[in-house]
Amino acid sequence: MTTDGVVYSASGWVGTPADVVPALEGELTCDVVVVGGGYDGMAAALRLAERGADVVLLEAGFCGCGASSRNAGQLTNAPAGDPQFLAMMHPRRLRDVVRFAEGAVPFTEKLIGRLDVDCEYERTGNVGAAVTKAQLRKAKRNARILQKLGGDAEFGDGRDLGLPDTFLGGFLERGGGHLNPGTFALGLRQALLSSGARVFEGTPVHAVEPDGRGVVVSVPGGRVRAERVVLATNAYSGELAVAPKRLATPVWVSLVETEPIKSERLAATGWTSRSGIATQHNLMESYRPTPRGTIIFGVRQLQKSRGAPGAREPEPTVVADLARGFHARFPSLRDVALERAWGGWIAMTPPWLPVAGEAAKNVFYAIGCNGHGLAQAPYLGTLLADRIAGDDLHDDLAAVWRTRPRFAPAPIFSAPALRAMWAIDRMSDRL
Ligand SMILES: Cc1cc2nc3c(=O)[nH]c(=O)nc-3n(C[C@H](O)[C@H](O)[C@H](O)COP(=O)(O)OP(=O)(O)OC[C@H]3O[C@@H](n4cnc5c(N)ncnc54)[C@H](O)[C@@H]3O)c2cc1C
Repeated sequence: MTTDGVVYSASGWVGTPADVVPALEGELTCDVVVVGGGYDGMAAALRLAERGADVVLLEAGFCGCGASSRNAGQLTNAPAGDPQFLAMMHPRRLRDVVRFAEGAVPFTEKLIGRLDVDCEYERTGNVGAAVTKAQLRKAKRNARILQKLGGDAEFGDGRDLGLPDTFLGGFLERGGGHLNPGTFALGLRQALLSSGARVFEGTPVHAVEPDGRGVVVSVPGGRVRAERVVLATNAYSGELAVAPKRLATPVWVSLVETEPIKSERLAATGWTSRSGIATQHNLMESYRPTPRGTIIFGVRQLQKSRGAPGAREPEPTVVADLARGFHARFPSLRDVALERAWGGWIAMTPPWLPVAGEAAKNVFYAIGCNGHGLAQAPYLGTLLADRIAGDDLHDDLAAVWRTRPRFAPAPIFSAPALRAMWAIDRMSDRL
């Protein structure tokens, strides 16, 4: 399959802002340093500044340049990962994590409204959708599990849910929908720049070292002494020695966007609800429409980094594989050209859940939404900021809080395991 003509970019949503803030040079003191300016770190810094703390945010690139401006924009109210698998792994914790995930959507909706960010939000919900009979049984089971745990999920057939004709049905997660994640990230950045927080971009943190009364944070041009530090470093967390060992495995996710499609042709596929879609494969395929008339689709396979997660583009073979999935799900759109491809690093945590806690004295971390951070990361950052500002541990933060910064190995995210999951998915497609 040829993917000629596809343009590879850093993000399909936004470019580098014109007003990138200069890097930190020299020495500073403050109450709290936030390391990392994605949704998580920006929301944490904004909340701390709003509560009167003297905050410094240090970002290696520009605020939003990571997963936050690159994702598919599906705002979902369920934890990442297969509900049945998570229920087996975390029988006691999952109910609270489902509540955390449910709470993340209204929180983020309110944040968008409060900051008046124009990010093209469509409140369509998202569907955990089935493309085979086995997936349909799985979707039914997963709907039941989520409902039992207090989640807002409802099973239906493809027609009831307004899905494209090749989808047999699934469970509708009613909260959320889809939006432009890039303009959301830059809107949050703008709010942060207008707040009392001091922001330094192009400033990679090399070391975070607790000392007697606080913490010293070192960057190439200087250092910051603070009472407390928040690590909001997502897939890049392994680069800092102070972060808990094995906290996050970085995996690369690729997305592809079609050319604009005439609305009559899109309607003729049966996709009347415009809900975002995530299939019930081991490694989901995701599909969502955009207001510009295109379809953005992705995931289907995940790649592990060799060494530190750095600059990268989707591999043409992966783009071709994604195109095969798209053609199978939308056979009437086989002639539609693919215009763009991009990708980003997500952080997979060993428990496959978001996690937060204290890595060392006065060094806090909040990460790992495992590919579901559009709603969850800003919520998590805000809850952690409230805790640092002196509030009691919020129930939803307690749901993901770890009392000990210890994580078991996660062989499920090894390169052979990820390849095997892809191969099993392709075999199951033929059944
Ligand atoms: C392709 C793709 C599709 C996705 N689709 C969805 C989706 O549809 N729905 C959904 O809910 N989620 C999705 N996600 C996941 C979602 O984007 C993330 O969970 C979320 O953006 C995480 O936010 P964050 O702030 O934790 O991390 P990031 O946005 O990655 O931010 C971390 C920041 O920290 C900075 N940083 C790291 N280390 C340092 C350091 N040492 N010094 C200074 N700065 C540092 C980085 O430069 C980066 O800007 C997707 C992700 C990808 C990549």
